Amino acid sequence: MNNDLDQKGEELRQRLAQEARATGYNLNPDLDMTSTICAGLAKNEGRYGYMSCPCRLASGKREEDKDIICPCDYRDSDLAEYGSCYCALYVSGEIVSGKKKAAPVPERRPPAERRLKAAHDIQPLPTVKSGAGGAIKVWRCKVCGYLCAKETPPAKCPICKADKDRFEEFAL
Ligand code: SF4
Repeated sequence: MNNDLDQKGEELRQRLAQEARATGYNLNPDLDMTSTICAGLAKNEGRYGYMSCPCRLASGKREEDKDIICPCDYRDSDLAEYGSCYCALYVSGEIVSGKKKAAPVPERRPPAERRLKAAHDIQPLPTVKSGAGGAIKVWRCKVCGYLCAKETPPAKCPICKADKDRFEEFAL
């Protein structure tokens, strides 16, 4: 691995560790593992322009890979069920404290045909009347579930830092 990539991976690891601490998540305490995964994320960011999951095959098209941009849409469900994300970059407090061992996580991402069909089937949701009488929309972060009522989603999720395009309209 080249030095530039090592350095980018290390900078990313430090940033993700800081963000994880601030938002109630944990990076895997196995430094070799987190360094390798972060180097993979940095490499994918250079290759595709976004941090596609290093444990999955990316198409190279952001729209098709949106669900696997780190943190992926599946992280929190995998953390809740298995105590670890698919790559084991994020782990539960029980794993950090040694009360539980990290185990392999089965792939939760639906096959491509199902993802494409789900994207195709999405219908626009009705807007909600605000107290002032204007119409507002409710947006949900697909990564962590953060909700906000605004005309447009925020540029970045304040909780998990996912980008604007990871939000979906949410029906109340
Ligand atoms: S959070 Fe998701 S995208 Fe990020 S490393 Fe873990 S499995 Fe991969």
